[in-house]
Amino acid sequence: MNYIFLGMPGSGKGTQVELLVKKLNIPMISTGNLFRKNIKNETKLGLKVKDILEKGDLVPDKVTFEMMSAEIKNMDISQGLILDGYPRSLRQAELLKDILNIDIILNIELSEDQVLLRIGGRRTCKCGETYHLKFNPPQKEGVCDKCGQELYIRDDAQEETIKNRIKVYKEQTEPLIKYYGDKVINIDGNPSIPEVTEEIFRKLGISD
Ligand code: ADP
Ligand code: ADP
Ligand code: ZN
Repeated sequence: MNYIFLGMPGSGKGTQVELLVKKLNIPMISTGNLFRKNIKNETKLGLKVKDILEKGDLVPDKVTFEMMSAEIKNMDISQGLILDGYPRSLRQAELLKDILNIDIILNIELSEDQVLLRIGGRRTCKCGETYHLKFNPPQKEGVCDKCGQELYIRDDAQEETIKNRIKVYKEQTEPLIKYYGDKVINIDGNPSIPEVTEEIFRKLGISD
């Protein structure tokens, strides 16, 4: 089975994807993480997309698709794949259709007010792990539980950028919910992290 996660920035996609990956033992791709890795390593792609991420705009569809599909080619996806952050536009969904059959879309629903609280307290590790100052703090302040590196605040966490990311989501990404129709499973993103996980597992028919 191949899965997609949809939801506003900060709705909890990355957090839940990681838990589902552990449960199902299948690989995942996070386009946001891949872009951030390229920016950090100052690759050609990274230099090209740095300003776009800082503004909270979408990287062009073709560039994103090529990065994502190159990644898929190097993976064993025979048991399935989870996509976090792809597709984010109708065009990206159309491009994806030719290389991968999507079975289930998990759409995490959260109000804009909550999204702002979530992004405001988010702390990220270079290894991909995500924390929250209040809702999911690391054991030792400012340090990743998993790998010990220092946590940082993402460059796209300024208020203006967050507002733009929400606008971009509504205009370009939200139409995908209609596009995927009855393949979409809505998940209430408001409860605690384990409660959201439980709802996802229950709706997917996976036992805890
Ligand atoms: P969030 O977790 O807040 O939803 P991501 O980490 O998924 O954000 O993405 C961060 C940024 O990377 C986006 O704001 C966008 O600039 C870029 N990006 C990620 N995925 C895509 C995509 N599928 N298409 C275009 N741009 C993308
Ligand atoms: P997304 O990938 O959709 O942008 P994240 O998974 O990065 O979202 O979550 C955004 C922030 O909210 C992170 O700081 C994360 O620790 C926190 N978070 C995620 N899910 C929940 C939840 N159910 N309750 C409270 N905080 C959460
Ligand atoms: Zn880490």
